[in-house]
Amino acid sequence: MSNTIALERKWCANNYHPLPIVLVKGLGAEVWDEDGRRYIDMMGCYSAVSFGHSHPRIVKALTEQAGRLAVVSRAYHTRPLGRFLERACRMTGMDGALPMNTGAEAVETALKAARKWAYTVKKVPPGQARVISAAGNFHGRTIAIVGMSTVGQYRDGFGPYPGGFVSVPFGDADALERAITPDTAAFLVEPIQGEGGIIVPPPGYLARCRDICTARNVLLIADEVQTGLGRTGRVLACEHDGVRPDAVTLGKALGGGMLPVSLFLARRDVIDVFRPGDHGSTFGGNPLAAAVGFEALGVLEDERLSQRAADLGTWLMERLHSLASPLIQDIRGRGLFIGIEFDPARIGANDVCLGLAARGVLTKDTHRNTIRFAPPLVISRDQLAEAVEALRLVLDERMAA
Ligand SMILES: *Cc1c(COP(=O)(O)O)cnc(C)c1O
Repeated sequence: MSNTIALERKWCANNYHPLPIVLVKGLGAEVWDEDGRRYIDMMGCYSAVSFGHSHPRIVKALTEQAGRLAVVSRAYHTRPLGRFLERACRMTGMDGALPMNTGAEAVETALKAARKWAYTVKKVPPGQARVISAAGNFHGRTIAIVGMSTVGQYRDGFGPYPGGFVSVPFGDADALERAITPDTAAFLVEPIQGEGGIIVPPPGYLARCRDICTARNVLLIADEVQTGLGRTGRVLACEHDGVRPDAVTLGKALGGGMLPVSLFLARRDVIDVFRPGDHGSTFGGNPLAAAVGFEALGVLEDERLSQRAADLGTWLMERLHSLASPLIQDIRGRGLFIGIEFDPARIGANDVCLGLAARGVLTKDTHRNTIRFAPPLVISRDQLAEAVEALRLVLDERMAA
């Protein structure tokens, strides 16, 4: 075993199950291991590397800002923050934003905003506000958030959980409608469930959720931490359904593949519930993060990466369908956000990942015996073709065995 792996195993908590590969370098959609082997990155760090590894423009913004002023806390004003939030709000159609670091923090911010909005604007009686979430969700790993999860392993051993949360089946707008009461503050939902196995809801689902939330004065909060910023072929995945949420969480790709940068963005009356001291984060909105986030959004626009994800995604989806493998049970997704589900009786998703890695393609399995293809959006068609060819070889080999 490599020394690097042994050292990590000895000192690091055992909370992940990494592939036995040590990565030392990345550029665009490719990464290299200790032995100089090159891989195509078909996972894009769960969308955190949507704009590619070490994008030169983002590296430049990072290093320039790091050499000037990196972290001062929001006890002071700094130049990068305002223009970063202006760009993020303009691109998502929101009126204001609260900067945090990780996706989970942006979701926590959304929960706090929804509750305070319910008490101060909607006039829900004190202590009664409820937030509805969808079964199979993934919104992060804090206590409150795993309390909303329906996945046993995320919850087991970590209770008790805060109250005030209600779960409804994903993709079922009637269930949402039935679950709403006068005390409902918000419905929190991923437009496409990512960690849950790239689950695409039925057509018209989000639009119906939008109508129901509007009619019942309930906030529709889209968690676009994974689906946002070009991944599905639009800046926000909600746009596919012509839906404008009342609030959005962004993270992952927002950090340009460099840093944790997240935002809670919302319409005016929601973002305005926050008063000085209500909520915050030592690192949230720091000049280094804001400079990187600003540049990342600039890259998304200037390189037209949403359109690229839409075009390449359509092409990739066709290529995957043309494999016509009996080992594949389902292929689903949108843009460059694709889940491939295998017949668990015939091949395990983890075995597919190991087989792909041996052929120079990296990805990771997720729920429902599914692997994801969610590469950096800067990937080329040739690189995608290489990944599909590797998958074909892995599946052929299993069929022959
Ligand atoms: C990854 C993810 C989060 C949590 O983000 P972290 O940066 O890991 O805290 C929240 N919501 C969704 C939809 C995610 O995919």
